[in-house]
Amino acid sequence: MTPSEKLTEMLRLNEHTAVVIHDPSNMFYLTEGYAGEGLVYLSAQRRAIVTDFRYTEAAEKDSSGFEVIMIDRDHSHEHRVAELCAAESISELYYESNILSVDDFERLRAAVGEEVSYIPLRRAPQQIRQIKTPSEIVIMRKAGSITSEAFEAVLPKIRVGMTEKELRLELENAMYRLGADGLAFDTIIASGVNGSLPHAVPGNRRLQQGDMITMDFGAKVGGYCSDMTRTVALGEPSPEMRKVYQTVFRAQAMCEAALAAGKICSEIDKLARDYIDSQGYAGRFGHGLGHCVGIDIHEEPRLSQKCQDVLKAGMVITVEPGIYLPGVGGVRIENTCLVKEKGSEPLTTARKELVIL
Ligand code: ZN
Ligand code: ZN
Repeated sequence: MTPSEKLTEMLRLNEHTAVVIHDPSNMFYLTEGYAGEGLVYLSAQRRAIVTDFRYTEAAEKDSSGFEVIMIDRDHSHEHRVAELCAAESISELYYESNILSVDDFERLRAAVGEEVSYIPLRRAPQQIRQIKTPSEIVIMRKAGSITSEAFEAVLPKIRVGMTEKELRLELENAMYRLGADGLAFDTIIASGVNGSLPHAVPGNRRLQQGDMITMDFGAKVGGYCSDMTRTVALGEPSPEMRKVYQTVFRAQAMCEAALAAGKICSEIDKLARDYIDSQGYAGRFGHGLGHCVGIDIHEEPRLSQKCQDVLKAGMVITVEPGIYLPGVGGVRIENTCLVKEKGSEPLTTARKELVIL
């Protein structure tokens, strides 16, 4: 079944119901490859991409089985949706209430008509996207291996005196050289005391002997993201930071080993949190354990204290415990993992044991 057929079935679309999609990631998913502007219209009978002149050729090339409808000066996106709805006597229209601004929604309703019922889509496409198909997994595996290889490629280049920004450039160059189409997110480089900031922006700090360096990065390939974090030591780390590393390493390995279909997200998070707390770092692991990854870098469900979702085979989720000590430094280790019926498999495969450069 194609993604658009899955959505049609999930919503049980009848002949007078249609869906309009504005979220770029959902558009990409449902059309199986279109990444331009505009919107997607879906009914039981019709599948269309509505876009402007710049993208019509790409829309025809990159989507499978969608008709492409061009907007022009007198016919906006909303007018095209109105024409499609009128042609099929649509009485119910699903829309993304989490994406459209109030203004956008008002424009859509003014064009299509007050007599139509507007129903929030409630992230139905995102729910389908949670379970990756074998062909999506092939792409995500490639993204993961490019990310992992980039880590190995950059290790010999890390030197005292290099800035965090220079290291970022090396890492990103390596990913592109290895075949990345883009970056999954803004690369995080946090060295020395900056390591206590989980989302540190790479700056002009120069790497020093004895630093721990956290690198959180990911390649984007074929529209899919990967996400990996490794922390390495530049020279012998302090005994304190060594203990921090071992604690994060064990927490990460423990949770990755526990990952499997049928497990509850919060239970996996608790494993890491309880272990880190028991080692004397209570309150120093201040973020969730992980998040699903796919077309978007952050997808649902999440491995958090709150999330009661049950893991399913085919989900791709990160396991990323960390310990952050303000004024001292931090360590995070993260893999992107494929959840299987029994156990899990890391898609990012770079070594996790402490590397001392
Ligand atoms: Zn990450
Ligand atoms: Zn992550």
